Amino acid sequence: MKLFELSGRVAVVTGGNGGIGLGMAKGLAAAGAAIMVAGRNASKNEAAVKTLGNKAASVEVDVTNEASCRSMVAATLARFGRLDILINNAGMNIRKQPEEYTLGDWRTVIETNLTSAFICSQAAYPEMVKAGGGKIINIGSMTSIFGASFAAPYTASKGGIVQLTKALATAWAKDRIQVNAVLPGWIDTDLTRRARKEVEGLHERVLARTPAGRWGVPEDHAGIAVFLASSASDFVTGTAIAVDGGYSAQG
Ligand code: NDP
Repeated sequence: MKLFELSGRVAVVTGGNGGIGLGMAKGLAAAGAAIMVAGRNASKNEAAVKTLGNKAASVEVDVTNEASCRSMVAATLARFGRLDILINNAGMNIRKQPEEYTLGDWRTVIETNLTSAFICSQAAYPEMVKAGGGKIINIGSMTSIFGASFAAPYTASKGGIVQLTKALATAWAKDRIQVNAVLPGWIDTDLTRRARKEVEGLHERVLARTPAGRWGVPEDHAGIAVFLASSASDFVTGTAIAVDGGYSAQG
């Protein structure tokens, strides 16, 4: 197979109906992969499928629910016959001061961002073994590296994503499954549009700190998705790669 070629490969992208997930899905589709868009909102799912060409379908999933994640994998098998690539991208945030969170808030964020990646990876694993290998891409954040005063559970979940990535990578290398994390910088999506409303001065602080001099866009993640999903990265596993316009390199 040629480097960066994904014809014949099948990818599931959780939260693939918008934002970074859709940006990654577009990259994979352009490289030839069939895409299963997996999100909660059926009309957003359908709209995303329309932008991905003729080898795309969608499935409704709640990534906090184990049975739903297993159904997502079963639906992918039923529709496309195999599963090679899983992008664990679905995520959310609840912004408060640490002392203000309820235990319910904490659990919602951890389950949506971290437990979901574990459940979906577990569900995908036997199918990747059957396919002779696979690629799992987990989405972390700058909060995988740095603290954020207004995002304690989110920061914990995204730190956990990096360590989960390493654990799965070491366990499943023998199965020719590579597991890597992507750490986006500040990207213009629904999630950060809400953040900019809730956190005063955020927009300007991000601009001032990002060497590239701009916020990222979802399409900035198309290339890293293709690299980590293709044979170009067959000896790359357990890493966390920042896609952040230099944000994390800035002192
Ligand atoms: P969006 O809000 O645009 O996308 C979030 C996606 O997650 C949606 O597609 C949503 O689907 C899906 N989702 C949320 N909860 C669930 C659930 N329980 N079950 C299924 N799907 C769910 O945000 P982004 O694109 O910005 O975020 C994508 C990922 O990137 C997240 O993990 C986020 O933490 C991470 N990230 C984002 C950054 C940024 O600057 N934007 C920076 C660093 C990391 P639906 O609408 O159908 O519910």
